[in-house]
Amino acid sequence: MAFSASSHQHFGTLNTMPTQGTPGCGYIRPPPYPVPDSGGQPVQRNWNIPCISESEARAAFLEYASSHCCYSSTPAREMVFEDLQAFNTYRYRLETFTESRSLEWRTKPFTGKIEVPVLTAELPWNVPVAVPKMFQNNTKEIMMPHTSSVKECSACMASGKRACKQCGGRTKEQCDWCKGTGVFINDRCSHCSGTGSSATPCKACSGRGKVNCSDCSGQGRVLKYNALVVQWKNNIIEYVAHQRNDFPAELFQTVTGQKLLVDEHDMVYPIKNFPDSNVNKASMNAIERHRTQFTSMSRILRQRQTIEHIPLTRVEYRWREAAFSFYVYGNEHKVYTKNYPQKCCCTII
Ligand SMILES: [Zn+2]
Ligand SMILES: [Zn+2]
Ligand SMILES: [Zn+2]
Repeated sequence: MAFSASSHQHFGTLNTMPTQGTPGCGYIRPPPYPVPDSGGQPVQRNWNIPCISESEARAAFLEYASSHCCYSSTPAREMVFEDLQAFNTYRYRLETFTESRSLEWRTKPFTGKIEVPVLTAELPWNVPVAVPKMFQNNTKEIMMPHTSSVKECSACMASGKRACKQCGGRTKEQCDWCKGTGVFINDRCSHCSGTGSSATPCKACSGRGKVNCSDCSGQGRVLKYNALVVQWKNNIIEYVAHQRNDFPAELFQTVTGQKLLVDEHDMVYPIKNFPDSNVNKASMNAIERHRTQFTSMSRILRQRQTIEHIPLTRVEYRWREAAFSFYVYGNEHKVYTKNYPQKCCCTII
């Protein structure tokens, strides 16, 4: 692939856009970058779908019956199989791992000297920031150089102190009887003479009524600076292609399947050769949607698309002259049925 050289250098090297970064606020559009290595089409392979056996179906059904306290296990033991039919159920998942960068004003207590960040780059998208872990959400903040200044703390009007929240500046603990209202049973509280305060000094402020301002740590001054906020996000689109209307689709979320394809590159291409055309369509739509959604204000660092086969078998059986059915689904062999034949312990036939 011709463009593979730059695939992991999502910052730095090719930035010439003048618009991307004077200090300020808000998201910054990333500079353009070449089409990275996408790896091309996933290789055609043999999509071999397994089917569960009768004994596996029976074991699953027995397990299901025993997990419900008033289901008798007799039908599961005695049932006679009529038909086992496997349905091809596929879960398509697209993960798009993005990075976005924004500039935000921040303040922190001023410690006496202005810190000078050792950054060589000044344009936000030129600042080298290592990705902590692929496909995992994360955030990191970096102080931008030449943006900091010392300001009076506005939260405490530069006094370094703020009224104690616990006692509301009254220096004493609240009166237990009137709960600080000064009124007890429709009358002036006699325990605190209507002041709402007890005789005990407030613990939170040691009876001073004021506490150190948390914004400036009591210094009265803060350092205001521009922070580069780097956000990593794993964006997921999922689609389940299945054919059974009598099976609740949300149940698929609770089970795992067999991975048929894992295609991971800087950018992936739509899958075209999967036997179920719904999956191909889902892949095309999902990739298109994520590219439209993420290429302007963030960068796509990595993409991964997965196709899983989720086993789904419909089992038809007879028990005591009547016909029933159930589904076994997922690697976990979970069971779903609408009509378990013998439900209550007291209905002994
Ligand atoms: Zn009181
Ligand atoms: Zn207090
Ligand atoms: Zn303050």
